Amino acid sequence: MENAPLHEALRSPLSGLADTFAGEVIRPGDPDYDSARLVWNGMVDRYPALVVRPTATADVVEALRFAREQDLVVAVRGGGHSIPGLSTCDEGIVIDLSRMRGATADPETRTAVASGGALLAELDDAAQAFGLVCPVGVVSHTGVAGLTLGGGMGRLQRRFGLTIDSLRAVELVTADGNVVRASEDENADLFWGLRGAGANFGIATSFEFALHALEGPITHGSVIHPIERAGELAALFRETLERGPDELWLGFYLRRALPAEDFPPEVGGRLIAVASACHCGPPVAAERDLAALRAFGPPVIDSIEVKPYLAAQHAADDAMEWGHRFYMKSAFLPTLPDELVELGVEHAHRMPEGADGEFSIWCWGRAIANVPEDATAFTGRDAGFWLACEVQWDDPALDEPARDWARAAVAAAAPFASAGRYVNDVAETGEDGRAIYGEAKHRRLVELKRTWDPDNVFRLNQNIRPS
Ligand SMILES: Cc1cc2nc3c(=O)[nH]c(=O)nc-3n(C[C@H](O)[C@H](O)[C@H](O)COP(=O)(O)OP(=O)(O)OC[C@H]3O[C@@H](n4cnc5c(N)ncnc54)[C@H](O)[C@@H]3O)c2cc1C
Repeated sequence: MENAPLHEALRSPLSGLADTFAGEVIRPGDPDYDSARLVWNGMVDRYPALVVRPTATADVVEALRFAREQDLVVAVRGGGHSIPGLSTCDEGIVIDLSRMRGATADPETRTAVASGGALLAELDDAAQAFGLVCPVGVVSHTGVAGLTLGGGMGRLQRRFGLTIDSLRAVELVTADGNVVRASEDENADLFWGLRGAGANFGIATSFEFALHALEGPITHGSVIHPIERAGELAALFRETLERGPDELWLGFYLRRALPAEDFPPEVGGRLIAVASACHCGPPVAAERDLAALRAFGPPVIDSIEVKPYLAAQHAADDAMEWGHRFYMKSAFLPTLPDELVELGVEHAHRMPEGADGEFSIWCWGRAIANVPEDATAFTGRDAGFWLACEVQWDDPALDEPARDWARAAVAAAAPFASAGRYVNDVAETGEDGRAIYGEAKHRRLVELKRTWDPDNVFRLNQNIRPS
């Protein structure tokens, strides 16, 4: 009986699905099975009983009906970038929306519609075709669905807020197989929960976003210094942000200069301090706002330049390609004290050899903080900064040391952290939802879960348990 769901599925009247299901059905042994079961994080290696690829909402309803009838664990896959691999499973069914891709934009209403399986690049391209933009994440092969349902942080966040702050409506297939719309006017309570805890309540088949004007080029790139200058660079990072407009986004990183051959010999392969910038205002304003940061040093590298927004959106795609092993841990910070930067430097020195790790700080606030904390399930709007330790590697022997490194760094930073955690960064499963959302929001989410998914059909996520 141990593998009952698997055996049941394989013996089951699959034709009962195939008769009414227009999409693809892939089972163990099929030529595409091994590629269909892959997700972005190379650490995740699971064997679902079947992978189905719906082509439209009706297919999603049918796949879910079948899964519930067969009592299969349900994994929902958008772009497949879940850090802990929550969009796949062993023995259950993967409802993979990769055949429901694409996004369209309407310049008249300044809105865009993205399908449930769309990637960020598709939404970016559709909006930029009309000089418009929806604020999304920084790696263009990430899924719109998972990113949005968790919150959505990115280069334009101080100007236009999180991705959920531009979300106007979601079409959702619920646990009982109904198709509902959630917006401020329809199922408003559900819409509140979808914006931050969204993977818990159903399968999103489309998203409607408000778009914002972004016609001209942006100013984007990094200044790089040896790590010995980290303290001074961090001070300048803070000052530049305080003085700078909402159009200015900055990130501060402590990392190794890898691959070494891509860097000048004085830093190649060594630890560096990096300040990255994205300024979405006019180039002349960016030049003024970034002048002090660029004059400091001089930097070993200054790659800041004027470029199309879409070029910046693709800049990190190759470095974050599919298949590497990956782990991260994050926290929100009210401020960025010198002691924390020193702690980051100390941990950067302890990064395991062979792992490509990064101690990152992103600016927060402005448009994010203009939305009241209780307006959405997302928790942590009043932070000053977001801190993450991210690490990528290929050798399985580094699994433990790499994860331990990130865990230890964020644990050491805990005394500096503020409330809430970004759900999309939580790499462990079984995390207490109270730590992510706080007590009061978690209670409200449990109530919502009882209403919309009392049987916890959607549990492969940072799960809000209905009981
Ligand atoms: C390389 C990389 C870069 C990233 N950059 C950023 C960034 O800049 N900003 C940021 O905010 N986050 C970023 N993230 C985190 C990212 O937002 C999350 O990993 C997100 O969950 C990925 O969404 P996905 O659709 O690709 O993932 P998936 O693995 O497909 O899904 C993630 C979760 O959402 C659920 N889900 C997926 N599709 C649907 C759907 N249609 N309906 C309901 N539930 C669904 C899944 O079941 C799973 O629980 C990044 C992650 C990676 C790996």
